[in-house]
Amino acid sequence: MVNKVNSRLFSQAQKVIPGGVNSPVRAFKAVGAKPIFIEKAKGQYLYDADANKYIDYCLSWGPMILGHARREVLDEVRKVMAKGTSFGIPTKLETQLAKMIVQAIASVEKVRLVSSGTEAVMTAIRLARGCTGRDKVIKFIGCYHGHVDYMLVQAGSGAMTFGAPSSPGVPKDFTKHTILLPYNDPGTLKKAFDKYAGKIAAVIVEPVAGNMGVVPPEKGFLKALRKMCTKNGSVLIFDEVITGFRVRYGSVQKLFGVKADLTCLGKIIGGGFPIGACGGKASLMDNLAPQGKVYQAGTLSGNPVCVAAGIATLKLLKAQNPYPSLELAAQRLCGGISEALAERRVEHTINRVASMFTLFFNPGPVTDYTSAARSDTARYAGYFTAMLKAGIYLPPSQFEACFVSTQHTRKDLSKTVNAVRKIVF
Ligand SMILES: *Cc1c(COP(=O)(O)O)cnc(C)c1O
Repeated sequence: MVNKVNSRLFSQAQKVIPGGVNSPVRAFKAVGAKPIFIEKAKGQYLYDADANKYIDYCLSWGPMILGHARREVLDEVRKVMAKGTSFGIPTKLETQLAKMIVQAIASVEKVRLVSSGTEAVMTAIRLARGCTGRDKVIKFIGCYHGHVDYMLVQAGSGAMTFGAPSSPGVPKDFTKHTILLPYNDPGTLKKAFDKYAGKIAAVIVEPVAGNMGVVPPEKGFLKALRKMCTKNGSVLIFDEVITGFRVRYGSVQKLFGVKADLTCLGKIIGGGFPIGACGGKASLMDNLAPQGKVYQAGTLSGNPVCVAAGIATLKLLKAQNPYPSLELAAQRLCGGISEALAERRVEHTINRVASMFTLFFNPGPVTDYTSAARSDTARYAGYFTAMLKAGIYLPPSQFEACFVSTQHTRKDLSKTVNAVRKIVF
């Protein structure tokens, strides 16, 4: 692997962009490496500035489920783009994408489009607070919901804590209404609802956690959330920015037999363009301005180019239903990796839900943030670097999800497993 141009580009970027990147994890700091700079991508492959080619299992953090530069998506984008790229006035495309989302997710009757997952979460939480007249929000440790102030919280000591800001620049006053609980632990949930009776506006959760590495919900966890929210008049928010249209066409709610009050979407529904969405029952959603009093807005919300890419992506996913084969590919890949590591007696756990998975260097089980954090991150760094050298791009952090796209072939999967076999741990 040549790294000459990549290195030069990184030096140049660092001079004019903080840390040389526009989102922190891209700097490869968590794996003690320097970032590669991407020149182009096609299908399952990335090509960097030094002309190295990689099999991509990060897929822009999830959106590129159909692979990069998918012809059908690009054709739609080009067609729409030629007619103008932003109007700040409604287009019928927005209704079309909203309709597709409403048809795909039973708990969503109306949906507001925004420009990022962070904004989708901001919208959901303001709406929940506005509708309940309450301030407190329960969040689970290890779940990520974007970079908005009151979600950038870290746990103090003890099982149930108020969030302390996890970043300078976030006033304590802004996180004092965020209650942090461990994932997969319904016992603490009941305690929190008892302690803050009548004060909890919402519970927000990644129904399959993807941002502490993949952690599936244990049996009964999501149902317990549903039950407590219903009983206490709190809004249950599923942050499905990753899982929406990734695990199946639509939401994981059907899979787990639990309906959320509000669903946040992003990533896949933009087909590689910036987008987010917040949806739910009409009676809730109609509280958003201009119908209701809860304010929310965006200059580029519902941007026609992003929406066109989203529509084209969802159309293909619906028509081709690639989900069973995506799952099979991920299953095969995880099985192969696990076998290769077991042969070498490398302690590990692989958590997988459909086509999203994480290899933890940790004997497991990994069921929450505490157990995920026991992983050997130095070993992950070595693994990441060795795989990169072998032409395989993984997320540059232990605590992220890997994804499979419809374009990954059996040959790609075998090549990946063979690369794991050759790593010197
Ligand atoms: C990516 C992500 C977000 C934030 O979305 P952005 O588009 O990066 O703002 C929110 N929630 C979850 C679960 C995510 O994975």
